[in-house]
Amino acid sequence: MSFTLPSLPYDKNALGSFLSENTLNFHHGKHFNAYVDTTNKLVAGSNYEGKTLEEIMLSSQGPLFNNAAQAWNHDFYFKCISPVKKQVPEQLLKLIEDNFESLESFLEKFVAAAASNFGAGWTWLVQTNRTLKIMSTTGAQNPLVDGFNPLLTVDVWEHAYYLDYQNRRPDYLKAFVEHIDWDFVASNLK
Ligand code: MN
Repeated sequence: MSFTLPSLPYDKNALGSFLSENTLNFHHGKHFNAYVDTTNKLVAGSNYEGKTLEEIMLSSQGPLFNNAAQAWNHDFYFKCISPVKKQVPEQLLKLIEDNFESLESFLEKFVAAAASNFGAGWTWLVQTNRTLKIMSTTGAQNPLVDGFNPLLTVDVWEHAYYLDYQNRRPDYLKAFVEHIDWDFVASNLK
């Protein structure tokens, strides 16, 4: 049993000026695919055979951790994106307002955190019971490893936006928050 590259949940030309087909061809078809392939190569013949990606991520280090976590993170990231503008479901909106005062204030803080996440990494919205928190991680790191429940992530590795935005990471982030699949984010609540 090996891992396969999950299909994108939308067409590669569905995101308009937010992310081009060219970006998705490279990001999904090359980068994400390479993490899946490398995970399979590293797992083959090891004690990790038969484990889920999450189990591998929670119990490995080094190159296997990096590739398995990047595979997990990319699957999650692409599901966080919607081609059409979505409303925030009521229960999630209430929780965001309780923790950040308003949706607008949360989005501002999320964009600011992601814009200042130094180098290559991910910025997350995570949950612990009724507490929500914005968290930035470096490299492949994932909040599940530290016991937080991830609700939303944005990829701030340059490969996620460079073809469309070059060095303008804040512009990518402003477009990202207009394309969040809030139904997926709400489905991650525990
Ligand atoms: Mn990426």
